[in-house]
Amino acid sequence: MTTQTPTVKVGDLEFPPRKVWMKTYGCQMNYHDTERILSHLSGMNFTATSEKSEADLVIFNTCAVRDLANQKFYSHLGDTKKLKENKDIDPGTGLKKNVIVAAGGCIAQTEGKDLIQKYKQLDFAFGTDVVDNIGEMVYRAYSGEKKFAVTSWDRSENYSIETKITQGTPTAFVNIIKGCDKFCSYCIVPFTRGREKSRRLEEVVKDVSRLVEHSGIQEVMLLGQNVNSYGKDNEESLGQLIMELEKIPGLVRLRYTTSHPYDVTDDLVAAHANSKKLANHLHLPVQSGSNTVLQRMLREYTVEHYLTLLAKMRKANPEMIISSDIIAGFPNETEEEHQATLKLLDDAQFDFIYSYAFSPRKGTKAAKMNDVLNDEIRGRRLREIQARQLKIQENIRQGMIGKTYRILVEEKGLNKGVTKWTGRTSCYRLVHFEPETPEQDYQWHWADVEIISATALSTQGKIIRDLGKKIQ
Ligand code: SAM
Ligand code: SF4
Repeated sequence: MTTQTPTVKVGDLEFPPRKVWMKTYGCQMNYHDTERILSHLSGMNFTATSEKSEADLVIFNTCAVRDLANQKFYSHLGDTKKLKENKDIDPGTGLKKNVIVAAGGCIAQTEGKDLIQKYKQLDFAFGTDVVDNIGEMVYRAYSGEKKFAVTSWDRSENYSIETKITQGTPTAFVNIIKGCDKFCSYCIVPFTRGREKSRRLEEVVKDVSRLVEHSGIQEVMLLGQNVNSYGKDNEESLGQLIMELEKIPGLVRLRYTTSHPYDVTDDLVAAHANSKKLANHLHLPVQSGSNTVLQRMLREYTVEHYLTLLAKMRKANPEMIISSDIIAGFPNETEEEHQATLKLLDDAQFDFIYSYAFSPRKGTKAAKMNDVLNDEIRGRRLREIQARQLKIQENIRQGMIGKTYRILVEEKGLNKGVTKWTGRTSCYRLVHFEPETPEQDYQWHWADVEIISATALSTQGKIIRDLGKKIQ
């Protein structure tokens, strides 16, 4: 038991040590929000647990982008009914124990009120713009308030936060812009994340300096649903921000995601040419290789424009690796339009793609289109896209053999009985390698590895140099 730990007083309530279990679905933005939530809750005496059965508080951070993530959440939420029933007595104290269940994130933003009515076991729901008020909501739940939903938007002009980290790793997500103004016809994000708002450049630079200096952060991923739209409201830009962050001593690597092709500006291309710390990787979702589909998606660019951008980026930095997102079977996509996407894969030579079958999202324009396609056609097109891409990336990755890459080592695992460590290159590829001695611990070390073999999905290396935990 943890009776020695003092209770924490919040308002008129005593908070004894408690455990919180969180499940996160979807994109990095949600993982970033989860970290903020855990950080706020640690101030109320909660520690995170990976065992749902020992949790006092269960929080789902939901994703609404595709139906699959929705279904997973509903199934996991269903399981909490039993958890509540079985958890009536705390075995440690013999007292009645109340498990609080909450749902946040994108589904909760649009459906929070319905969710709490429909699911008996759900105590409260909260949207994407009130993550920083989690303490107040947990307080309300422990005060006995039942079944409430907080889904309001932050109407203030400014977007100002301080990054919270809880993981103890040298990598951090730093949110620099929230929301999305693009309203692509298939996408739910503008409805679940609201309008675009950027943090001020000066604030982000101070925030990252603090993380580097006081929390040992060496690699930062700048986040936004539409991250390269950063700063428009303040006459600042992502390119400018990168060049300012570049100056922070001790910061080794910078990444950003996810970008929209429409907002790739010349100063961003120049940052890729000039920055020594910016990763050699750009994730630039194209969605389709057909101009007519791109028009129906309301993407605001053509295939030709997109390919010109790739050429500019590759010229600015010849080491540049590009990845993308593709949607298979957008409503009424013809066979010819689908073939255009296969051709684009050949032309673009992506290092990897995330590909999805179109999933209608309620309230979006695409969901209202009179669609003639069915799941079978979508499934077949998705498989064709994935098969074509695998061939391309196998070829690209063969070209890595014999070259040496600097990686940041993340973890070790067992592969067919052999211990291997895994790290990520600047260009975002995972490399597996065997330790020099079985007991060698490389976690969060920088290392140089030479690639000895590569397939479409996996890259094996040999350690050349272990650089330890800190490099400049
Ligand atoms: N902001 C990014 C952009 O402009 O491409 C993408 C963010 S979105 C959350 C991540 C990816 O999910 C998209 O790039 C798209 O490929 C996919 N996606 C979004 N809505 C979808 C839908 N209704 N059906 C299938 N895939 C979808
Ligand atoms: Fe969704 Fe990205 Fe389009 Fe925004 S830009 S609506 S997040 S796909």
